[in-house]
Amino acid sequence: MQQSRLWIAWLALSALASMSGGGATAVAQEAAQEAVVTMPVETGAFRPSELIEITRLDPSIKLDIRYATANNFVGRPVYAEARAFLQRPAAEALVKAHRWLKTQGYGLVVFDGYRPWRVTKLFWELTSPDKRDYVADPAKGSLHNRGCAADVSLYDLKTGELVTMPSEYDEMSERAHPDYAGGTEDQRRLRDLLRSAMERFDFKVYRYEWWHFDYKDWRQYRVQDTPFSEIPPLPVSNESPSSSDAPSDAPPQP
Ligand SMILES: [Zn+2]
Repeated sequence: MQQSRLWIAWLALSALASMSGGGATAVAQEAAQEAVVTMPVETGAFRPSELIEITRLDPSIKLDIRYATANNFVGRPVYAEARAFLQRPAAEALVKAHRWLKTQGYGLVVFDGYRPWRVTKLFWELTSPDKRDYVADPAKGSLHNRGCAADVSLYDLKTGELVTMPSEYDEMSERAHPDYAGGTEDQRRLRDLLRSAMERFDFKVYRYEWWHFDYKDWRQYRVQDTPFSEIPPLPVSNESPSSSDAPSDAPPQP
């Protein structure tokens, strides 16, 4: 939508410029170029993308894809499908964190994983400059665009319910900081439990958001803009992280 508005503005400026001479054309072109942010151009060696749907590795990881609903800071859906993907090593590490958490009585809830670049651009445009610590600059791309960042929380294994943390997901306030000292003792304990589970398996928490974790290999994957519907499905034999080293007569994984 933003693109088409820019395009209309550009057409209007062009028409105006052609009526009033060459100098105005140059000004109009400059204005249009400034307004259009493009995907970062990245050179060098990258690993090929291998985005994996997280719940296919472990269906007991819960999804709460707020961006596929109106329950997010934009106030309307920005994803057409409630799905979550990560690059394979990150997805496998997330499954390990989830399985470790199960020994503590909790499981992972995923709010977001891989995010197409155009959505990062939309978030940036809709966020006021004083809140931009909480969104990624589209000129650089987000680690979500590389398929190496996950927004997660915990659910209680006994009730199946999402736990209460010191802030809401996507809350743009100091309560979202992973070192925020307020909230209840139990909220802080759960936030710290989530963080220790993720750090145990090579994720790092973002300093402004207790729910956002970056996987260690993120530099090895490009920013991309592939919509969920165009992510290639995996061959069945590759769907379990432990299938390749399991003996051939082993029972199916639960
Ligand atoms: Zn995030």
